[in-house]
Amino acid sequence: MNPDAEVDEVAFASAQRLIKVTALRGTPVEGDGCANCYYFLEPGERLAFCWHDKLQTLVGADWWCQFWEMTE
Ligand code: SF4
Repeated sequence: MNPDAEVDEVAFASAQRLIKVTALRGTPVEGDGCANCYYFLEPGERLAFCWHDKLQTLVGADWWCQFWEMTE
């Protein structure tokens, strides 16, 4: 960790909680990822908002979480 980092402990704890609850990870799982998930707000973008009620945050196209759902 960068020794110069000034971490907002509340935001950091919130991010850790989000990862724990959603199993969010930075790589896709067997071809499933945010890019082809129902909740990825702007398909085609590399970074977009996830509107799943447990997420409600920016996510990367190559990320994945346990709430992944097939696009309709
Ligand atoms: S629900 Fe999960 S897999 Fe789907 S866009 Fe949101 S973070 Fe990505």
